[in-house]
Amino acid sequence: MTPPKPPPGPAPGGHPRPRLAVSSCLLGEPVRYNGGHSRDRFLTGPLAGHVDWVPVCPEIEIGLGAPRPTLHLLSDGRIVSKDETSDHTGAMAALADDRIPDLADIDGYVFKSKSPSCGLSSLPRYASGQPEERTDGQPVDRRGRGVFAALVTDALPHLPTEEDGRLRDPVLREHFIERIYAHARLRELFARDWRPRALVAFHSRHKLQILAHEPSAYREMGRIVARAGTWPREDLETEYRGAFSEAFAVRPKRGRHANALLHLFSPLSQHLDPTRRHDVLAAIESYQRGEAPLSVPIALLRHHAEGEHLAYLAQQTYLDPYPADLLLRHHI
Ligand code: SF4
Repeated sequence: MTPPKPPPGPAPGGHPRPRLAVSSCLLGEPVRYNGGHSRDRFLTGPLAGHVDWVPVCPEIEIGLGAPRPTLHLLSDGRIVSKDETSDHTGAMAALADDRIPDLADIDGYVFKSKSPSCGLSSLPRYASGQPEERTDGQPVDRRGRGVFAALVTDALPHLPTEEDGRLRDPVLREHFIERIYAHARLRELFARDWRPRALVAFHSRHKLQILAHEPSAYREMGRIVARAGTWPREDLETEYRGAFSEAFAVRPKRGRHANALLHLFSPLSQHLDPTRRHDVLAAIESYQRGEAPLSVPIALLRHHAEGEHLAYLAQQTYLDPYPADLLLRHHI
């Protein structure tokens, strides 16, 4: 089965279209060891029309068919058939060498959990030379990483990654989607023949989003931006990309969101009458107490920033980080 095709052209709402690598079975492709799939409803439903997929099934790509014997991880880092008659570690490394250059311009990767090839963490590892029947099928630990996933994440340490299971948590899902869109905006900026003032504008538009993640990062990144025009462009891109990705990798807590919301409210308040000021503050406090989702104060602040024609505030990516129809802030 082929993965769902996105509509051509840019995503609605002026957002970029992230390029998202994904374990093929999550898109419904019948590539699992048993000939089945692990279709994920969020990926193939609400998200499908917003991203360009880069499907990868490492076990199929190294020449194993479906159905096929199951594989498992050994504590020495190898990936082998369960009876240890075939070792696929070298083939996985060769595949990663081949695929990773293509993956350099993706904005994120969703891996299938619990797979000895694709899982990101907590996988069972077995003692080498001790087939399961001799150890009652017991692993020596559950600290393994899927072999292909480990090769990709080691080579692309700033890439936003998640597993399908974790994406069912609304907070983790929102954070991951926010990261891939931020990554895509930066990728698009650096793909152009950008000028220092474009980087200054980019950094400024992301101010509140960065503050919500890691307040100290905004100023530190500002020092990198200040070198635009004097530093070699490639060095500056590497520095800024690293700092940007690290800031966004920090999951914002409710208190940091509240702090960012108050930062937005502060310059806006002088343009609002007392009733509207009170409404916005009440919405922020209600969110802070966990009684209202983040979407409530965000909708009010965005409405007032646009209504008052305060371009600096209205253009903040914090108010519109990804397509609104994903409804992710309604659940956090
Ligand atoms: S988990 Fe990875 S290797 Fe296994 S079927 Fe899915 S894409 Fe293929």
